[in-house]
Amino acid sequence: MRTNKYAGEPRQIIARVNCKCHTCGMPIKKGEEIIYWPNGKHPGHLKCDEADYRFSLASFEDEERYNQHYM
Ligand SMILES: [Zn+2]
Repeated sequence: MRTNKYAGEPRQIIARVNCKCHTCGMPIKKGEEIIYWPNGKHPGHLKCDEADYRFSLASFEDEERYNQHYM
């Protein structure tokens, strides 16, 4: 049994503060679109993390379908 099923789901948000991209290490400026990964609480540029982001969303959706089908 799992709790917090979506705790690690990444989100596309607008940076509210200046921070640093965990993928390329370059600064992220306030107001930029970023991918936010709650697991490690690290932000990444949209262009750096978009592929991973889409992949993660797809796997979450697959899991949802799997659960609906088998539970
Ligand atoms: Zn980056």
